[in-house]
Amino acid sequence: MFDNTLEYARSLDSKDPLKSFRSRFYIPKVDGEEVIYFCGNSLGLQPKTAKIFIDIELDDWARLGVEGHFEGTNPWFGYHKQFEGPVSRLVGALPHEVVVMNALTVNLHLLMTSFYHPNPARFKILIEGGAFPSDYYAVESQIRNHGYDVNDSLIELTPRPGEHILKTDYILDKIRKEGSTIAMILLGGVNYYTGQAFDMEAITKAGHEAGCMVGFDLAHAAGNLKLNLHDWGVDFAAWCGYKYLNSGPGGTSGVFVHERWANSPELPRLAGWWGYKESERFKMQPGFIPEYGAAGWQLSNAQIFPMAIHKASLEIFDEVGMESLRKKSDMLTGYLDFLIRERMKGQTEENFIIITPSDPRDRGAQISLLALKNGKELFNKLTANHIIADWREPNVIRVAPVPLYNTFEEVYRFVEVLFGE
Ligand SMILES: *Cc1c(COP(=O)(O)O)cnc(C)c1O
Repeated sequence: MFDNTLEYARSLDSKDPLKSFRSRFYIPKVDGEEVIYFCGNSLGLQPKTAKIFIDIELDDWARLGVEGHFEGTNPWFGYHKQFEGPVSRLVGALPHEVVVMNALTVNLHLLMTSFYHPNPARFKILIEGGAFPSDYYAVESQIRNHGYDVNDSLIELTPRPGEHILKTDYILDKIRKEGSTIAMILLGGVNYYTGQAFDMEAITKAGHEAGCMVGFDLAHAAGNLKLNLHDWGVDFAAWCGYKYLNSGPGGTSGVFVHERWANSPELPRLAGWWGYKESERFKMQPGFIPEYGAAGWQLSNAQIFPMAIHKASLEIFDEVGMESLRKKSDMLTGYLDFLIRERMKGQTEENFIIITPSDPRDRGAQISLLALKNGKELFNKLTANHIIADWREPNVIRVAPVPLYNTFEEVYRFVEVLFGE
């Protein structure tokens, strides 16, 4: 269905309904030339409006001082509430199911404090083997803080021999078999290493049937996949703002708490004043009463500057919509997959294999190449050709063609370099 020619790649670009969005971002340059930036899954590029949005807040602060809380252009008192609409549309949630605050690992801890309740019969946590290190540390420390032993409390799903990814039937089977001892399932929406997208709906259903809490780390899924967290019935989720969501290094994070927990003052939680019932927050009374919904998990007043960048970025996502973004993404990553496989056909020996699933439903905007030999040299060749990809020890190159700002021509040129001398 695709063609392996530069003319064809260019024709796809000229027909691309989202082509104008590239100009909304700063593309990094080396020696005065734009690089091929395939690292938006690690740090998304800067929207040109970010500076404008930060300047608004700096100016209000200079002009108004503390009065900016209520009299600013975007009053800081309720700054986070601007995100209810765009973020709920982004992840398929109801407006009061989402809140923006803190950073990702912090939020995972806050959520696990509420959703991981081990008891002697049901105390285990199920994660994917090869989960992102921060998730490992977070989960292990949660287990220990409850007085359990990590060795018999952490179940890691690892691919069956000869496989690189976790087949859905295998995951569901594991949940059915061991579910009665599992307190919480915490998987990535997309595995950061392999690029595999999990069937979150089926996993949530199986988890609930087994009596488990089910949460997802959506660091690599938010702004990448079309999500439907509310309808899927997911209990909780969190994601960072700086990968596909282009909200700047260390940027703010998003949280989802399903409506079924919206009014649950009994859930254990680490509380702070910003999670207090808003209508009575400033009475400053003792005794914590949480705000309805995800907002009840906030601790501190809103971090305006990282949130200003988030606002700039979310405006773009709202304008495009995940539906059309995902459509282009499927084609762009599909084209990359096609070109690599085409070129491989002509090779006498394999230097690498694609470990990301080939079915578009099982992946987002990423292809992971497992180098069989000389992986670092291959990666260095990319860098020397001004291609920014991502190297993961011991031998994986991750390539993320991001539909908001990457082009089919860039995909074509990348493959030329990958297979070139
Ligand atoms: C990027 C990423 C993180 C990073 O956590 P921070 O708290 O934002 O530093 C954590 N988990 C996963 C799965 C990630 O992909």
